[in-house]
Amino acid sequence: MTENFADNYANNFERTPGGAILMDGNRLRDEIVAQLNTEISGGLDVCLATVLVGDDKPSRIYVNNKHRKATEAGMVSRHVELGADATQAEVEAAVSDLAADPGVHGILVQLPLPDGLDADAVLEHLPPEKDVDGLTQRSMGALVRGQQGHVPCTPLGVMRLLERYDVATSGKKAVVIGRSTLVGLPQVLLLGRKGVDATPTLAHSRTDDLASVCREADIVVAAAGMAGLVTADFVKPGAAVLDVGISRSESGIVGDVDFDSVESVAGAVTPMPGGTGRMTIACLLQNTLAASRMLAAK
Ligand code: NAD
Repeated sequence: MTENFADNYANNFERTPGGAILMDGNRLRDEIVAQLNTEISGGLDVCLATVLVGDDKPSRIYVNNKHRKATEAGMVSRHVELGADATQAEVEAAVSDLAADPGVHGILVQLPLPDGLDADAVLEHLPPEKDVDGLTQRSMGALVRGQQGHVPCTPLGVMRLLERYDVATSGKKAVVIGRSTLVGLPQVLLLGRKGVDATPTLAHSRTDDLASVCREADIVVAAAGMAGLVTADFVKPGAAVLDVGISRSESGIVGDVDFDSVESVAGAVTPMPGGTGRMTIACLLQNTLAASRMLAAK
């Protein structure tokens, strides 16, 4: 165990069989949803709208989970659904309608869209206040510049887990595997932010000797979508390892992290499922409450 986790001895967090702290996304999500419910049931009106295009099964599950948790948080939710044959203009019109609706505070367009649709062009119909997924050019620009705006939910969820489990970040080395605009790039920006003060490295499919790059790190965030990519030999003893990747196998959902080998080397690790994915939803709901406040202050 390194000094990264000194505070955790006092906090008595749950441990894996090998002794790592289990960064429990279910638990933290439930705490956040309960906190949101307390704030919202005090008399706030908060509405999350989702847009689902096509019949991708996992996307439907994700959207249903978001509605379920939004309701638990005391929010109203709306759902707009279009067929897989919807045109670009129809999808953009659906998003524009929600954007113009004063009763809607946050809008989530479930990605990926079916082949042939331009997701970036769709997202640009979102006003920044309602872009609760933080994926438009303006939200991304605000993140780069350190200005107010919504931060993408998955990397924000990783940051919430690091905070909740007292993982030290200041002066620490971090490696983020994957350079997408959805996860990897914003994750690097968040880890390197003033106040967080980690020193992040962005690794990707062309990174030479990924295992030794990761072994240098105090924090590893795996977002490649390659099942079992991160094994024990990638992990510095005591490091925090957060698994974002999702692959589907016959035995169910599998992460990028080979949990069974990593948990005996790491100081803290997320389960998959039950880790970062839960935090994505929690952060979406936090962003939606923030959206309603931003719109009310306009
Ligand atoms: P993406 O396909 O856009 O990006 C994957 C990145 O991983 C690329 O930058 C690529 O260079 C890198 N990569 C691929 N193989 C690699 C390898 N062998 N070594 C090093 N780098 C490699 O995917 P994305 O949208 O960023 O999502 C990444 C993963 O996270 C996917 O599995 C996705 O399903 C999952 N995801 C999970 C959540 C969640 O809530 N937990 C949210 C979003 C995405």
